[in-house]
Amino acid sequence: MNCPCGASGEQLVQYFPAGETDFRLCKVCGCVFREQFPGPEELDEIYRLAYEEENISGETTNQESGDYAVRSFADFLAGRIVKPGERILDYGAGSGVLVSELRNRGLACDGFEFAESAREYCLANRGYSLKSNLQAVPDGYYQAVTMIEVIEHLTDLTNTLKEIYRVLAPGGKLFITTPSRDGFRARIEKGNWREARKKFHLFLFDWRSISFHLERAGFTGVEHIVFSPFQKEGWKFVMYARIMQSIGMSGTLCVVASR
Ligand SMILES: [Zn+2]
Repeated sequence: MNCPCGASGEQLVQYFPAGETDFRLCKVCGCVFREQFPGPEELDEIYRLAYEEENISGETTNQESGDYAVRSFADFLAGRIVKPGERILDYGAGSGVLVSELRNRGLACDGFEFAESAREYCLANRGYSLKSNLQAVPDGYYQAVTMIEVIEHLTDLTNTLKEIYRVLAPGGKLFITTPSRDGFRARIEKGNWREARKKFHLFLFDWRSISFHLERAGFTGVEHIVFSPFQKEGWKFVMYARIMQSIGMSGTLCVVASR
């Protein structure tokens, strides 16, 4: 498979020596991606197994976990990225947990979600619908779009970013978080890194490669939020996170780009 930037052949080299050996590094754009993406049916099965595993070990659904992280992102977005009354879209909304948190903060928030089961859960438990596509959304409709731990899953990176660019208003912001392949654990564990082993993770970004693909889709002013919101509570985690962030080895890459 070619890199989404168009590079192929000798420009693509194996990234991990062991473990998840099917990741390729593109020497042109710095992107790391799986050489062969799973097909739609295979992907459905991977997601189904992942949710099942999560449910068994966590006694909760995947979509309902990480509430602290969601509140922390919602506070950050409501304080720094959007103003009350502005329209915001959560792209890859899961069961709508961030959509609800943002609505509680006075924002006009919609959600888009691929998985039918998650959309059904949202409608049944939260009483509103999530979008299954963006076709009916007018150009420039939203002042902000969020993609929390979503971009690494995309099977069509280029067209998805272009579609998000289209629905953003001029000056609108795209807020992204994704596992960082420059993070401490990624550097130590390499091809056995937890985030690399998840079969639905098709991309592993670093700062350079995510900037390249955002700019290629038309975004400008790509900003690396080094001191990003915390994903867990407690002073020990906060200290650890701040140290990793300050030395550039945080496990999360957090980026804001403008239309
Ligand atoms: Zn490339």
